[in-house]
Amino acid sequence: MEQIHTVQEMILRISDLHGKSVGFVPTMGALHQGHLNLIQNARKENEIVVLSIFVNPTQFNNTSDFSKYPKTLIQDLSLAKAAGVDYVFTPDESDLYPDKYRFKMTENDFSKKLCGHHRPGHFDGVLSVVLKFFNIIKPDRAYFGEKDFQQFSLIHDMAAAFFVPVQIKMVETTREFSGLALSSRNLRLSPEQKSLAAELYKTLSEKITASEASKKLETLGFKVDYVEDHNERRFAAVVLGDVRLIDNVKI
Ligand code: AMP
Repeated sequence: MEQIHTVQEMILRISDLHGKSVGFVPTMGALHQGHLNLIQNARKENEIVVLSIFVNPTQFNNTSDFSKYPKTLIQDLSLAKAAGVDYVFTPDESDLYPDKYRFKMTENDFSKKLCGHHRPGHFDGVLSVVLKFFNIIKPDRAYFGEKDFQQFSLIHDMAAAFFVPVQIKMVETTREFSGLALSSRNLRLSPEQKSLAAELYKTLSEKITASEASKKLETLGFKVDYVEDHNERRFAAVVLGDVRLIDNVKI
């Protein structure tokens, strides 16, 4: 496995692959089993696997959430190596944003709902950085988690709208035994908050209305950003302490 620090070096490596199929897994690091399952799918379906680790500043609308985002690069590199990654791309912000974010990708419908409504500009940042990665890495397939279904759906539609020749694949949510969706942000939960966090998935899975689920979560001690049904899925975002958690289930 090779770590690649610059955009220029990454472009050169990709051009040396001479048509080998490339699977790409973008992450913000603090890798856990959810990320590893994305890598495993990429490993099965492609000759080369590229993982990116980049805490993307443009998708954070809250500076303390950005500065407190967990960083575990040394451990991430050894997990990535063990999972069979070929290249880990760890660019700098100035290298990835030579334009200082003068140009961005905007979607004007679904990205304004759910997390986009509560985190203005979030999906502009996500779509912009993912499009940059697609142009640098030129993957055949790119892998995204069902946990962030809104993100998956927007990236899927962006790739189609801009004729990016990449297949966008969804990998199902990896959960703890309690039902809690694995997330890098879980590292910031206390043991008590973590056991309460498992109630999010349980409540979303109950046969009650979205507004009943929202009330129940508030009663349990969550601050609820939203619980909403869209396209046969129930989506929720809640805050515990200063940690924001999201999840969704099929209904
Ligand atoms: P992140 O590092 O949180 O930006 O996530 C990188 C990718 O991993 C995204 O496509 C996420 O949807 C995916 N991911 C994160 N957590 C999980 C999980 N528990 N199960 C499946 N995919 C996940």
